[in-house]
Amino acid sequence: MPFPLLADRTFRSVLDISPQWLAGEGIRLLLADLDNTLAPYGEEPDEAVRAWAGSLAAAGVDLFLLSNSRKPARPGRCAGVLGIPFLGHAGKPKTGGFFRAMERMGAAPAETAVVGDQIFTDILGGNRAGVRTLLVEPIRLAGNPGRYLRYAVEWPFRALSGHPGEEGRP
Ligand SMILES: [Mg+2]
Repeated sequence: MPFPLLADRTFRSVLDISPQWLAGEGIRLLLADLDNTLAPYGEEPDEAVRAWAGSLAAAGVDLFLLSNSRKPARPGRCAGVLGIPFLGHAGKPKTGGFFRAMERMGAAPAETAVVGDQIFTDILGGNRAGVRTLLVEPIRLAGNPGRYLRYAVEWPFRALSGHPGEEGRP
């Protein structure tokens, strides 16, 4: 772990993370945050994200929903839409949820990555757990002033994590 608040790679959106690139990096389990990573707050993953999830499966990369959401039904419903396993109340940045997910999926930290939109939960937790960390831009900040504030606090760590890439996006 170089510095726990820096991501290994940054992307604008999960759609810019190509399944072939992940597989080529030796990643076979991708733990994904839900809110503002796979879908806006209160919404379900759209058709583009569903297609992306399908292309991950085809490339041999398991997608797993790792959500801090405390809404009882939401993570399960969104995981169902994508046809993937999930863990709610994940408690990121604590590492327990990361390790439970890896154990369930039979993957080691070296072959696991996490993708999320928040430095202080997704990226910090992923670095602590020893998995690859992929940071995306939040899908939508509107609707909650606290999200802008958090984004402002995260900004230096986003900047230091580098420019968004598009790894082999077709
Ligand atoms: Mg999020």
